[in-house]
Amino acid sequence: MNHVLIIGAGGVANVVVHKCAEDKNTFHKITLASRTLAKCDAIAAAVKAKHGVTIDTRQIDADDVPALTRLLEELRPQLVLNIALPYQDLHIMDACLAAGINYLDTANYEPPEEAKFEYKWQWAYDGRYRARGIMALLGSGFDPGVTNVFTAYIKKHLLDEIHELDIIDANAGDHGLPFATNFNPEINIREITADARHWENGAWQTTPALSHKRVFDFPQIGEKNIYMMYHEELESLVKHFPEIKTARFWMTFSDNYLNHLKVLENVGMTSIEPVMYEGREIIPIQFLKAVLPDPASLGPRTKGKTCIGCVAKGKKDGKDKTVYIYNICDHEEAYKETGSQAISYTTGVPAMIGAKMMLKNTWRAAGVRNMEQFDPDPFLEELAAYGLPWEVKEL
Ligand code: NDP
Repeated sequence: MNHVLIIGAGGVANVVVHKCAEDKNTFHKITLASRTLAKCDAIAAAVKAKHGVTIDTRQIDADDVPALTRLLEELRPQLVLNIALPYQDLHIMDACLAAGINYLDTANYEPPEEAKFEYKWQWAYDGRYRARGIMALLGSGFDPGVTNVFTAYIKKHLLDEIHELDIIDANAGDHGLPFATNFNPEINIREITADARHWENGAWQTTPALSHKRVFDFPQIGEKNIYMMYHEELESLVKHFPEIKTARFWMTFSDNYLNHLKVLENVGMTSIEPVMYEGREIIPIQFLKAVLPDPASLGPRTKGKTCIGCVAKGKKDGKDKTVYIYNICDHEEAYKETGSQAISYTTGVPAMIGAKMMLKNTWRAAGVRNMEQFDPDPFLEELAAYGLPWEVKEL
């Protein structure tokens, strides 16, 4: 019997639980645990109403490794899906290691005191996971996640050699509010305000945040400004495909979004350095998160589409070729189906598919793995079947 423990009860976890409940042949038993039990119970009630599936719920602080290890030893699930925040990654990996349980997440570890995400901390568990005979699948969301699988698909079917890779993420959704982030505001703002990094001729190049801008014509959406930034999948992709000479990540931002962000940054509200306020230490970005709209509240009001994909240039049969592989997801349809908007939907569906690949032993290894290290075909087939169809174009 396949039993999964899902940790976290935010917008993404809501989609993951809905999607796991939809596939009763793979996910026989689902337990949802998070810091706030009421949020788990609300998701469980919605899933019961929609799919008739009972979700067990538990309260857990995933940063308390002994308590989480006890929970894992009590429940003995086949797999833990970490859908909490990147700060919890290592604690959850530690508990999985202690209890001998497989692990999956959607975002790589970031130390709370430093806005810097890197795979080195999680890759360092490889030897211990191998020795324990368990697997960790890192970054099974959309980007990272599907973008890694798209790259593996390009290498397997479309290009003999990939020379240039551009991952391009558009959110053309409109929630009608002056300023809001579409996933956890703290993680989102830390990511966007960090220096941009891209890979060029065998080395990382660092440039100031949002200093490279282009225009890209997205299918079904049209032209949008895209800005280069650093994103975690670049690190694993250039490691696993050393032929890639240039790798960049781009995201769309409206002028309105960037103006708000600039002001917040200029007045110090995006800082992660603690400040004293009325005798108490507070971290400005955490206070900002508390006053910004909860991303989950954007679901019912967001209209429009997301388009995320990879443009790869390289050689096929000795000739130059450029291909584009992408998915388009509609905010309103995602909300109608799950009660979460497209950002959560495009992350939650691949998390469920990654879990399915592990539970069915389609993707199996002992140790710590990234998505591009497995056969992309079965994953992409399931992805399309569970709500995220994808297209390939030659440019
Ligand atoms: P939310 O902030 O909406 O939800 C996070 C959940 O984790 C909350 O329920 C929170 O509990 C819970 N949590 C936080 N700390 C702990 C803890 N110590 N123990 C137990 N539970 C905890 O985030 P999202 O749902 O938007 O995002 C979830 C993850 O998905 C993040 O890691 C994010 O980076 C990742 N992501 C990945 C993407 C991809 O494409 N790869 C894209 C978008 C997001 P509480 O409710 O009590 O605060």
